[in-house]
Amino acid sequence: MKNNCDMARDLMPLTIDGVASEASQTYVNEHLEECEACRAYLAGMKASLQMDSRQAAQERRSFGETAARMRRRRVMRKLLTAVIIFAAATAALYMAVYMHSAYNTTPVALAPGEYSVQLSQLKDGRVIMTTKTYGKRIVNLFVTDRSDGNGGRIARVTLVSTRGSRGWMDEMRIIELPSVQGYQAVEYGEDRPATLWTRGEAIEPASAEMEAYYKALGELEAFDREVEKRHVIEMAEKGDYGETYQLTPEEAARRYDLAEALRAAKDRVPEWISGNKGRFATPTPGPMG
Ligand SMILES: [Zn+2]
Repeated sequence: MKNNCDMARDLMPLTIDGVASEASQTYVNEHLEECEACRAYLAGMKASLQMDSRQAAQERRSFGETAARMRRRRVMRKLLTAVIIFAAATAALYMAVYMHSAYNTTPVALAPGEYSVQLSQLKDGRVIMTTKTYGKRIVNLFVTDRSDGNGGRIARVTLVSTRGSRGWMDEMRIIELPSVQGYQAVEYGEDRPATLWTRGEAIEPASAEMEAYYKALGELEAFDREVEKRHVIEMAEKGDYGETYQLTPEEAARRYDLAEALRAAKDRVPEWISGNKGRFATPTPGPMG
């Protein structure tokens, strides 16, 4: 019987799968009817196969979950990459805009050829300097004291613009030089300054219109001082030491007239008319010239 058992057991997997031939199936069935041991063996085999299939299902399920998890992870990774790229691109754009504007707003001293300068002397001795740029905005204008190397002083006038400032605006600045009598010379420019005036040289007298402008300016300034004094005294008498005061309607009207006269006077000054480059003009072509 031992050989019969072996044969039956060899065929059992085929019968379980339903692929055994009819003869084999019959053989196994007949053997099982008379063999207790093989019936037990078959039951064990079926149980074990069921276990295997459950395990396989479990594995399939967990494989599915893992795959889904991996898919989600891949999507998240792609999303994260997109976010990082977007953030980096945005940062780069902002950086570029910042660098561009930082470059364009970097102050640079203008070279003498980039503007014209003219000195005018008022009858009362004050010296007025007029500067004109062609297509460059002036962001700063200052006068510094230099030594001439012989114990004398030189006034150095520097005009500052920005790198990106070009072609959109012409500008004129007018300043009163601090007592030109104290200087041996007046220079302008920064790296290679040009000499504007040296001691002993005559300064061109201001036009009658410029004299009129400074007279009008003096009147406005005198009016402001007088009004301020009156209001400060009034406030002090009331015990009110506030820092601001309001003009009376009469004062406001008078001040408006003075300011208007000043504006009108300024427009008439030939030294300040944009086409007039002045005696010390440098040969820079530009919309003003
Ligand atoms: Zn048997």
